[in-house]
Amino acid sequence: MDAPGPIFALPEIAPGEVWLVGAGPGDPALLTVAAWHALGVADVVVYDALVDERVLALARPGAVLDFAGKRGGKPSPRQPDISRRLVRHARDGKRVLRLKGGDPFVFGRGGEEALALVAAGVPFRVVPGVTAAVGGLAYAGIPMTHRDLNSAVAFVTGHNLAGAVPDGLDWQALAKGVPVLVFYMALKHLPDICARLRAAGRRDDEPVAIVARATLPDQRVVVTTLAEAPAAAAGIEPPAVVVVGEVVRLRAGLDWLGALAGRALDADPVGRELSRAAGT
Ligand code: SAH
Repeated sequence: MDAPGPIFALPEIAPGEVWLVGAGPGDPALLTVAAWHALGVADVVVYDALVDERVLALARPGAVLDFAGKRGGKPSPRQPDISRRLVRHARDGKRVLRLKGGDPFVFGRGGEEALALVAAGVPFRVVPGVTAAVGGLAYAGIPMTHRDLNSAVAFVTGHNLAGAVPDGLDWQALAKGVPVLVFYMALKHLPDICARLRAAGRRDDEPVAIVARATLPDQRVVVTTLAEAPAAAAGIEPPAVVVVGEVVRLRAGLDWLGALAGRALDADPVGRELSRAAGT
């Protein structure tokens, strides 16, 4: 009997077209099928520093790998230069894959690049990826939501265009209204961020996890508190996401990577905590 045919049709990159694709946080197993397929057919792959080399190794032999990130302390190419490069490759009739870490539309300037393509009349497609917050929390064993603990979550950048903590953020509203906060690009300004959250009423002993190099073989997770997080973060290298919220407690029960390495899990990490807090 013949093998069954494909049950869905994958789109193709046309010559002269750009695909803006999320590569996920690192582990190549987290690529989407569309991203994997695109890697196998693209003529040019324009990629960022956070794209893992095992992902790039999936590119078609003969594909041009065009690095668009920061290298060796040199400043990264300016955003308009990257957009111009995409337009040039497309006008050369290439099948262009613009590969970005995580998801292209989450703190990734994918929107800016896509608008430049629109302005130049270049056809494009957007392929989402697993963003660092989603991948990082999953691999740290921290559910982003838990029915008993939170019904909202916010992704926040710790960094604005000028490299400072974003002032336009309503820290009071974030602190009061969103029980779980996941910060991107937050290591440099962590003392400032933690101080703002504490000043806005978040508890000193609120659990915090720092997940560095999430989903990669050398992933590192540090669990601490809002008061201790700045000291705990010393010596941790980016990239990292920082999650603030009670859901961090669930890691004691759900650190599945640790369990695979033989660590014991606590089947009731939150219940016990809550009853302890209630004095029972
Ligand atoms: N578009 C990306 C985010 C780019 S901004 C996405 O959707 O994930 C870069 C920030 O992403 C880093 O400073 C860090 O906060 C986070 N990040 C990216 N890869 C990561 C990883 N493997 N582990 C932890 N954080 C990561």
